Amino acid sequence: MRELNNTDYWIDTHCHLNLPDFLPDQAAVIDRARQANVRRIIVPGIDPESSETAKKMAEAYPAVFFAVGVHPNESADWDDSRLKDLKILATHPKCVAVGEIGLDFYREFCPPPQQLRSLHAQLELAEEIGKPVILHCRQAFEVLWPILQDWHRHHSKNIGVLHAFEESPEAAAEVTAQGFYVGIGGAYTYKKKKQLSEVLKTVSSDKILLETDSPYLTPTPYRGQRNEPMYIPLIAEKVASTRNISTEALSEIVRENTFRLFGNL
Ligand SMILES: [Zn+2]
Repeated sequence: MRELNNTDYWIDTHCHLNLPDFLPDQAAVIDRARQANVRRIIVPGIDPESSETAKKMAEAYPAVFFAVGVHPNESADWDDSRLKDLKILATHPKCVAVGEIGLDFYREFCPPPQQLRSLHAQLELAEEIGKPVILHCRQAFEVLWPILQDWHRHHSKNIGVLHAFEESPEAAAEVTAQGFYVGIGGAYTYKKKKQLSEVLKTVSSDKILLETDSPYLTPTPYRGQRNEPMYIPLIAEKVASTRNISTEALSEIVRENTFRLFGNL
């Protein structure tokens, strides 16, 4: 997939281009991203259907890679027979991870025991196929982190990213020390998120990934509108200035981080 001479590009490591929000204009969204030098987009699944859609998009667009998974909020009717379908999708050459999986005790669309069943089964799937995980964690860090530590201890190659990271700087230090990555997105441009700016200042640079989480979490000054991968440079500017490095330097760092976790895109 290295059809570009220009290797100096941004990657959106978490973008829900497979949701109905983007159905009318997905090609235009990818084109606008390319014009903003965002040349790779990782599209996670939230259920088997959206994982299948993500696969089709990856086959249609060179810029798109994908992950397969069942989101905690979509786990209500989880049963282990779903694993078979996910596994077939997950062996696709453009599938870079299992995700988005995790725990959400904020919304609780799905009872926690059911979320846990789906999480454990999909962590095992990731281990079996040797791919990293993309994690959603909402008010559940105290439960999720010990599970991840166990999983990682079992096999040192088991690793992943805590996407839309919203925990404390101490938690960031702990997860990155164990090799996990943190996904930094639009929420870091919001003025009220003081804790996140502390995370940004202190987290280890070789564990930062950039993401939009489109269509959600639109960065300032476009908050309230639909988010798009073309806004990655806005997030990057904020990160670079907080860390006192150039955007060029940041671009290289986050690209290398992305390749280390997901392979060369
Ligand atoms: Zn997401």
